[in-house]
Amino acid sequence: MKKHNYSAGPCILPQEVFEKAAQAVLNFNNSGLSILEISHRSKDFVAVMDEARALVLELLNLEGKGYQALFLQGGASLEFLRVPYNLMKESGKAAYLDTGTWANGAIKEAKAFGETVVVASSKDENYNHIPKGFTIPSDANYFHCTSNNTIFGTQIKDFPKTDIPLVCDMSSDIFSRTLDFSKFDIIYAGAQKNMGPAGTTLVVIKEEILGKTGRAIPNILNYQQHITKESMYNTPPVFAVYTSLLTLQWLKKLGGVPAIEKINEAKANLLYNEIDRNTLFNGVAVKEDRSIMNATFTLVNPEHQELFDTMWKEAGISGINGHRSVGGYRASMYNALPLESVQVLVDVMKELENKI
Ligand code: PMP
Repeated sequence: MKKHNYSAGPCILPQEVFEKAAQAVLNFNNSGLSILEISHRSKDFVAVMDEARALVLELLNLEGKGYQALFLQGGASLEFLRVPYNLMKESGKAAYLDTGTWANGAIKEAKAFGETVVVASSKDENYNHIPKGFTIPSDANYFHCTSNNTIFGTQIKDFPKTDIPLVCDMSSDIFSRTLDFSKFDIIYAGAQKNMGPAGTTLVVIKEEILGKTGRAIPNILNYQQHITKESMYNTPPVFAVYTSLLTLQWLKKLGGVPAIEKINEAKANLLYNEIDRNTLFNGVAVKEDRSIMNATFTLVNPEHQELFDTMWKEAGISGINGHRSVGGYRASMYNALPLESVQVLVDVMKELENKI
């Protein structure tokens, strides 16, 4: 039986993507060759890369607006470093919003690089909300935020308005909701949640913001170099890019970001309504900042844990244990998770209530 996979990432992908990716490992495009054994410079793979890059811009509504999409390596974690390298001037500074573990990871890399101002932090309340009402210094070279905090289950709903370049780590909610993506100058996201397998990072850049630091940038860290080489500066992770393309095609066929947003909202409403209704459970994140991707919740009475854990496992649910820094449970409802899987979890929560 296929599990109801709530894993935080790597995570569920559409079943048809698994099937097509598996087929391509055996025989790619009826070529008699595996996707894993062809050259990244072959016509067939260049077509994959070109289509994937174009489809990203199409799905984010960024076509013809001066943006470039890249499929890089090193995870979102390498972008924590690549962003300051490409945007922070020699004697400049950067502004960051601290909303959780990953935002903090980005801040640490920027600090190692140059002056870094943390405009606000929700650390004192274990990141259970998104700080608001802060000021972004207008003389900073860029402002960095994390749209969705995978571990704590919070999500930025209103992005701050600023005249300086806006950089966003969208690793755990890319392609999940409609936004005016043209407000952002750099968006990056590890593939392994809503886009594909681990192994590639999507970076979307407004090209005109590059080349302004006066800094010598090593080629592998230089976004401009990757743009010039059409995301083939070095051997790209061919399988991760191909599988990401399959997921992007799946999303387009479904109706794109507006269509998946409706489904994601239905899933999140179903689960949060139960968390709020059922007196055995508490939500962790403050309501207005709740993530539609990662719902964090706890049992009011820890003595119910053993029974609840047995029940959800028996229902075929996998991956809802909370992150160690929050405890409790985390249900990650990425794009490919069907509404039916959320219903199964909600039914188990109701059943627990009946048993107690
Ligand atoms: N940012 C966010 C929001 C994440 O959720 C993660 C990983 N889960 C990372 C960054 C780090 O990504 P990677 O492991 O690809 O470096």
